[in-house]
Amino acid sequence: MVATPLGNLRDLSPRARDTLAAVDAIAAEDTRHSQRLLDAYGIRAKRLLSLHQHNEQEAAGKIIEMLGNGQHVALITDAGTPAISDPGARLVARVREAGYAVSPIPGACAAVAALSVAGIVEGGFRFIGFLPAKALARHSALMALAGERDAMVFYEAPHRVAECVADMVAAFGCGREILIARELTKLHEEIAAMPLSEAGAWFAGNDNRKRGEFVLVVRGADAPDGAEAEALRVLGLLLDNLQLRSAVRLAAKITGMPRKGLYAQALKQRR
Ligand code: SAM
Repeated sequence: MVATPLGNLRDLSPRARDTLAAVDAIAAEDTRHSQRLLDAYGIRAKRLLSLHQHNEQEAAGKIIEMLGNGQHVALITDAGTPAISDPGARLVARVREAGYAVSPIPGACAAVAALSVAGIVEGGFRFIGFLPAKALARHSALMALAGERDAMVFYEAPHRVAECVADMVAAFGCGREILIARELTKLHEEIAAMPLSEAGAWFAGNDNRKRGEFVLVVRGADAPDGAEAEALRVLGLLLDNLQLRSAVRLAAKITGMPRKGLYAQALKQRR
């Protein structure tokens, strides 16, 4: 599993380069795209085959056959680390199941690059990747994450990023900090941290800011204070005995806490 650059071609490690030059075959998500990377390094692939999300099982069969013949195969995707919001995980599982070794050649990963400049000191992080594309499903997914204490890392497409940030304001509130990492390692790299309340204006301020590739890192929720902790306890008891909606309605009445936040917590607890 060979990581390739996110944009800046010099981010291909010497070991990745040696590996790609040495293997008997390179499986690539988009062979034409990857050919440009190989050309830039003067690497002549002995064999280039295609492995993408729609043919991963079939390609895995082919690769396992090659491994059976004593060959070595590298997998690369369009950018970054394979199997991270990219094809590759099914292949890894199949190859290991077939009894062959799988080895990582680590390198760029957009999530890790963004985290490295997020300045989040405490706690861990949770990799979410892409949210559902449909508005309703995205909204529910974000509501279910409202109580998450760890920082959350999202990937988002440029045509949805402003909409997604607006949904984050609705689910997480205005005060949470977001780091917007755009076009990492590329010419127009931009990294901006701000409260979620300012993110809409940041995107609206310049049309170029909605272009390119994005990682969003959102700080986790603060630990609950006494009243919130009590509300969560009450909610937990009600959820044991009632339907989710009724439990939320009653918990809001008993504790005086807003229904929206309790609903998100209820979804989390049920899960
Ligand atoms: N496997 C890749 C990795 O290791 O990061 C991720 C692949 S995923 C299909 C592509 C998404 O990663 C993009 O939509 C964007 O959210 C993020 N991404 C990739 N390159 C990026 C870059 N240069 N700057 C910001 N985000 C990037």
